[in-house]
Amino acid sequence: MAAQILDGKALAQELRAGFKERVAALVARGQRPGLAVIVVGEDPASLVYVRNKVDACVAVGMHSEKIAYAADASPAEVLARIAELNASPAIHGILVQLPLPPQFDEDAILEAIHSDKDVDGFHAENVGALAQGLPRFIPCTPYGVMKMFEKGGIDLTGKEAVVIGRSNIVGKPMAMLLMNAGATVTVCHSKTRDLAFHTRRADIVVAAVGRPRFVTADMVKPGAVVIDVGINRLQDGPNAGKLCGDVDYENVKEIASHITPVPGGVGPMTITMLLANTIEAAERKAQ
Ligand code: NAD
Repeated sequence: MAAQILDGKALAQELRAGFKERVAALVARGQRPGLAVIVVGEDPASLVYVRNKVDACVAVGMHSEKIAYAADASPAEVLARIAELNASPAIHGILVQLPLPPQFDEDAILEAIHSDKDVDGFHAENVGALAQGLPRFIPCTPYGVMKMFEKGGIDLTGKEAVVIGRSNIVGKPMAMLLMNAGATVTVCHSKTRDLAFHTRRADIVVAAVGRPRFVTADMVKPGAVVIDVGINRLQDGPNAGKLCGDVDYENVKEIASHITPVPGGVGPMTITMLLANTIEAAERKAQ
């Protein structure tokens, strides 16, 4: 039987409708949630992501501003702007679109954002809080995946979960969230010796690799829940230019119990959870 589709687009819409009410309540108290998005350079994909983030904020009644720099901007001027935003009462969340050009030390930039405004959840203080099981800001993509498990009625307690990918943005926080939720977690990565050995015994597979159709049906246990975080643009073939995930969706959906499509799965949830974190930051400030 074909898998049940975990529809991130529909869940994102549902959650965003609820955000409008929370934003209106904050505005009534003089605290309109505000997100500042900093982007450096002209990377087309980054510019699209930034526009989508700003538009999504505005659509639920939040304030959002894009702060753009040329690719040769100096780290000092960006750091000075972050300091201003840290002090601004109109801004509750600050996000720096990654990757940054080579003259930047990404870690230093992320650490310069005040941890109370770090709505991406990348600041060491917030990473530490998540590791302790007391999260303050959860990184948006794995946070969105957790919401999809919740909506799909998927109990994680005692489940064998395999996360493929160990990035700070997706893989590592995903593993911590699954562990905090009671799953037994294995993290696989580029040095893992026998990936299929791990994935074949998993009840839950989360793929965050960045390789089109990397997870094939023979790597998945029948009845497993398969979450596809990957966003890849196909380079050649009849579907050149189209988006595709890290999972061989057409074949894996025939054996999985639940699966996320690409597009329309995890992608729309990421921006949704960015809004959630920014609203949460404003609510904390209003208290
Ligand atoms: P990354 O490049 O930082 O990390 C990729 C990970 O994959 C690494 O940890 C690496 O060890 C692992 N890997 C590489 N080759 C492997 C192999 N052969 N076997 C096992 N593991 C292997 O990427 P990322 O930032 O974590 O993103 C991963 C994917 O998720 C990308 O396609 C990215 O575009 C996508 N992404 C999507 C969203 C979203 O909103 N849906 C958000 C962030 C990233």
